[in-house]
Amino acid sequence: MVGYYNQGIPASAELENNSNQKKYTVNRGRPSKSVVISRPLCILMGIGALLLAILVGLVVFFLVPRGCSAGEETPSALTKAVDTVLGGLRKSEDDVDERLPRSIRPTHYRIRIVPYLNTSSTSGWVSMVLKAEEDTSEIIFHARNISIDKHSVTVRKNSSQIKINAQDYAEGDKYKIRLDETLSKGDECEVSMGYTGVLDRHLKGFYKGKYISARNNESYFASTQFSPTDARKAFPCFDEPYFKAKFTISLARPFNMTTLSNMPLGKVEAYEHDKSWYWDDYPETPDMPTYLVAFMVSDLQSTQSTDHRIKMWARNDLIHFTAYAGDLAPKILRYFEEYFGTSFPLPKIDIVAVPEFGFSAMENWGLITFRENVLLIDPATSTNSDKREAAVVLGHEIAHQWFGNLVSPKWWNDLWLKEGFATYLEYFGVDSANPDWKIAEEFLLTETHRAMGVDALESARAISFEVKNSKQIRQAFDDISYAKGACIIRMMNNFLGEAVFKTGLINFLHKYQYGVADREDLFTSLTEEAHKNGILPPNVTVGGIMETWTERPGFPVVHSIADYENNKLLLSQKRFFLSGKQEKSSWWIPISFTAKKTLDENADFSETKPKYWMRGEHQIEEDADLRNISWYLLNVNHTGYFIVNYDEKNWRALSDNIMNLPPLTRAQLISDSMDLASASLISYDIPLRMIARMATQDKMIMIIPTLATLNKLDFLNNMLYNTPAFGLFEEFHSKIFKQTYNIVTQFEGLVDVYITNRIRRVVLEWSCRSSISKCAHEARHRFRERMIHNTVIHPEVRSTVYCTAIREGGDIEWKWAYRRYLDTPSISEKNIILDALGCTKEKWLLSRYLDSLTAGSSIRVQDADKVFSSVAANPDGMPIAFDFLRKNWNALLNRYGDGFSIVAKMIRSLATHMNTEFQLSEFQRFKDSVKQNISTTASAFDAAIEQVRANVNWMNRNYEEVESWLQQHRDYFDFV
Ligand SMILES: [Zn+2]
Repeated sequence: MVGYYNQGIPASAELENNSNQKKYTVNRGRPSKSVVISRPLCILMGIGALLLAILVGLVVFFLVPRGCSAGEETPSALTKAVDTVLGGLRKSEDDVDERLPRSIRPTHYRIRIVPYLNTSSTSGWVSMVLKAEEDTSEIIFHARNISIDKHSVTVRKNSSQIKINAQDYAEGDKYKIRLDETLSKGDECEVSMGYTGVLDRHLKGFYKGKYISARNNESYFASTQFSPTDARKAFPCFDEPYFKAKFTISLARPFNMTTLSNMPLGKVEAYEHDKSWYWDDYPETPDMPTYLVAFMVSDLQSTQSTDHRIKMWARNDLIHFTAYAGDLAPKILRYFEEYFGTSFPLPKIDIVAVPEFGFSAMENWGLITFRENVLLIDPATSTNSDKREAAVVLGHEIAHQWFGNLVSPKWWNDLWLKEGFATYLEYFGVDSANPDWKIAEEFLLTETHRAMGVDALESARAISFEVKNSKQIRQAFDDISYAKGACIIRMMNNFLGEAVFKTGLINFLHKYQYGVADREDLFTSLTEEAHKNGILPPNVTVGGIMETWTERPGFPVVHSIADYENNKLLLSQKRFFLSGKQEKSSWWIPISFTAKKTLDENADFSETKPKYWMRGEHQIEEDADLRNISWYLLNVNHTGYFIVNYDEKNWRALSDNIMNLPPLTRAQLISDSMDLASASLISYDIPLRMIARMATQDKMIMIIPTLATLNKLDFLNNMLYNTPAFGLFEEFHSKIFKQTYNIVTQFEGLVDVYITNRIRRVVLEWSCRSSISKCAHEARHRFRERMIHNTVIHPEVRSTVYCTAIREGGDIEWKWAYRRYLDTPSISEKNIILDALGCTKEKWLLSRYLDSLTAGSSIRVQDADKVFSSVAANPDGMPIAFDFLRKNWNALLNRYGDGFSIVAKMIRSLATHMNTEFQLSEFQRFKDSVKQNISTTASAFDAAIEQVRANVNWMNRNYEEVESWLQQHRDYFDFV
């Protein structure tokens, strides 16, 4: 699944809008006084509302008829009230254990579901074949927000019925049936029941969605998102990946709609209650977990890809935009079939652009679902970044068809196993289809640096961590599982070598196919292959090495001091914290080595196997040939998940030779040294000199080091923005990047070359930041031309042009863009505008923009985090965004729920620019004030507060040093 992948932008929840939290009216533009409710009154009102909701809940529970539900169209207010109450109760029960006993397991499900789109309800029937793993008289499975018809529940063994003594819902989304007799180990029985459910709009479970066609017609559909724990919302089931079973599914549909499920359509039969409806029967699936089951009922259209097994689906108006992904998907599928040495296990894959969808994409076996803006590529408006995202997410979901689907994790504590692998392998898949993108080189930026960004905080968690309920499971879908997971897999690949790694992996897949496995199973397969090939000594296992990486948070910095006279390296390790905190902790670290001999022309960067191992020792001394070298380098190509600090002499030598090093190494050194300087482990003179030298001398404008540099300078930009040193900093980057700006920021002559455009986009954005720059002038001009004459702006420069013109302009530009957002059918254009609307400096416009998050507006709720973070990312907007979050906390939490971590992302986006003691205490105070109602955002608060604290510490420790460096080198930035 790609949830937070898109820079963490999963979409949302409830799409109806009934908020009354509006503080300013949308068209007025000036704040009105908001009503302040005193605390006691507020509590009384709260209790009253809770009682009312419980009463309403009881009424619903007893009155909603089975098989068809109350009300027309919306998930009624009543249902929402029940959800809210139940949700509230659940939230206070953090410790609830939702895991099921292992005494009995399902082997087969027969499911029949009738979705009623007009009444937003479902009627279902499920029959589960179960096998007792030990003697038991209880059958416990999951059910959430579904109403099981107790009279319909039967349990049969050998075709005779077993008496049920008791049955009821139980804590932890469970349903318990107590039998009159004991099932013996090995016994089979069949449990059947009818039930009704709700097709709500929360984008989880079996949900209802809506879209407006180009002809302005409303269309409704029903689709599923079961990962990680929402299959239990659609049908009673053993909702854990451990309980793999076969599924035979039938879906009822009106004659003018189509259904899809994991398998290809089988028989179509008459629907007994209505002649205009049919039953679509799907043949039995292989063994699979509930979270990968998927089905939908819609009027979406399809087109065949070049591979007869793959069909692309989208709404009729947009179906032609599936062509790009439709061309890529077969190539990526074939690549992975070859890589894994196993054919795709199912007969078909449907790839669907779902008009309303919570995550970026979901790897349901044989039925991959996407958010529209991730999958659909419009040749006229989509950028290279859009194409990159579509390809990467496609690569990720297709890799999952083996890693995650064919072999699934035993439990969610090993989520990283499937997500880390899919994240790692997506680069291989994309590279096979688009080798000219050189996407593997971007791994360092998009995964290693991303993972280390959160893993260098004190609040970081270990990759493997115990989870026992849905709330904790949802929190595991983060950068640690995905990006750090991918990084440590890459490290294994490099210390084992390609052949051993791949063979071990394939053995693992074959051994556990159609089953489940945990990390130990994977490590055992890799160890066997490593021992067979003599890669590891007999007393060393992959598990022994890797547990230091999977079971503890953070990563090490390796300090290397060279003894040039005696040809020795003294290596020591410590956990690295951006805050500069010191902690002794130790890992098994594979350390590769290369050096440049003065007489040799080049150093060897191809050997990434370790020359040294730190076997959990804090310090080691090793022999190294340091005679006649100009410099040496550890962790070649940054394949190990750690950073390196050198002795001063070697740092200077590397810095002097930066232009002779490969692009990846430049990026590695700039990034490592900036982090080390930030933690006060080295002087800022080392990275700033290196950056200045590289930026001024790089005639080729290499994408990876340039992007790595700009990413790291972004942090300085954010810290210095409101300080006297900001002018110096602006002067610094505009001087050293003068040549780069001149070469790549031209608006004309854009060519459709992936790499050129990727870098142009970022460089242009920096170049336009100064309002007196040529770039900003040009952007304003182009925007005016666009407003007046509707001239076309190349998609690659559009976001910078819009953001710059809106930042430098006033309400005319802002309103034009807002109107354009409403009118344009282009999803890509809409996305660009959502980011750009937050660029304005006008406070009232920013407030008005934020109001769309609670008030009725035409901005789709699934874009909520985009709206908020675009304001928070604007240094002038951050205080307004913070105020808004504080004032509207309850409304935002209610509206965006806790399913897709939207509010968590809002909280985190605020930390970027905060760096004063006052802001830190305000943030802490805010957390304390909402701690009773903090839901799944607790860890986001911790991470954000720690980030702000680290920023404050950075200011105390480093501000003066950076300011005086900039001051001292001001006259010769370009010569340092
Ligand atoms: Zn995934």
